Amino acid sequence: ILKVTKKRIKYEENKEGILLIVSDITIIKKLEKMRSDFVANVSHELKTPLTSIKGFVETLRDGAIEDKDVAMKFLNIIEVEVERLVRLINDLLYLSEIENAKIEINEEEEEEVNIKDVVDECVQLLKLKAESKDIKIHLDVDSELKIKMYRDWLKQLFINLIDNAIIYNKEGGEVFIIVEKSADKILIKVKDTGIGIPQNEIDRIFERFYRVDKGRSRKVGGTGLGLSIVKHIVELYNGKIYVNSEVGKGSEFTIVI
Ligand code: ADP
Repeated sequence: ILKVTKKRIKYEENKEGILLIVSDITIIKKLEKMRSDFVANVSHELKTPLTSIKGFVETLRDGAIEDKDVAMKFLNIIEVEVERLVRLINDLLYLSEIENAKIEINEEEEEEVNIKDVVDECVQLLKLKAESKDIKIHLDVDSELKIKMYRDWLKQLFINLIDNAIIYNKEGGEVFIIVEKSADKILIKVKDTGIGIPQNEIDRIFERFYRVDKGRSRKVGGTGLGLSIVKHIVELYNGKIYVNSEVGKGSEFTIVI
């Protein structure tokens, strides 16, 4: 995208001419578009649960409150929607925190974190969710490995990956978490036996709010921000993330950091 600016100028004593300034504004336009798409997406994501909450509140007020069973059902839906809003706002705050950190990362505040401790904590948090789908989580994590990183971010990274490995898995499926040292890098793998991701969508799943199946993601309470948060964290530490996936068989997320 080019921008052309015209200016009338005087040169060489009394000669007059027109100066054309041509600038390449592709990146500026791209950033502007990304920003406005982001605002549109956030507004849409906020509006959907709010519209639903408003609808149920109105129906309750218009009489549904008289029927205790119906009222209870509606209140439960309202609660689920409120929880989704809270999750969305937390994820948004998280993303902006990580993005700001890109400019200013305070190495002194970082600690040497034992990775196995963090993984154990995350698995504990997600245990009930896995059990409810009869999913087994297998760990192969070197208990000595340490990494210099904000503990909260490492935890968030694992939670998002393991959570997805459970959500997009089948009943009775499996999740494998592998952490090992490879040369001077740390290799993290989270693998599942779930629904997989179509090849042509793999590049897009790290985009904010991108979901392969919007309906499914919403139904399970996804915000569409999880992987974008993971990618930001990995890149902040000059790491790389790769995905291998086959529809119907499962997905494998590999991080080298
Ligand atoms: P969401 O909140 O929708 O899970 P994410 O950013 O975590 O958002 O993931 C983006 C999309 O990538 C998901 O909606 C899903 O379609 C796909 N996805 C992520 N992880 C997996 C996985 N382990 N298996 C299959 N699909 C996945």
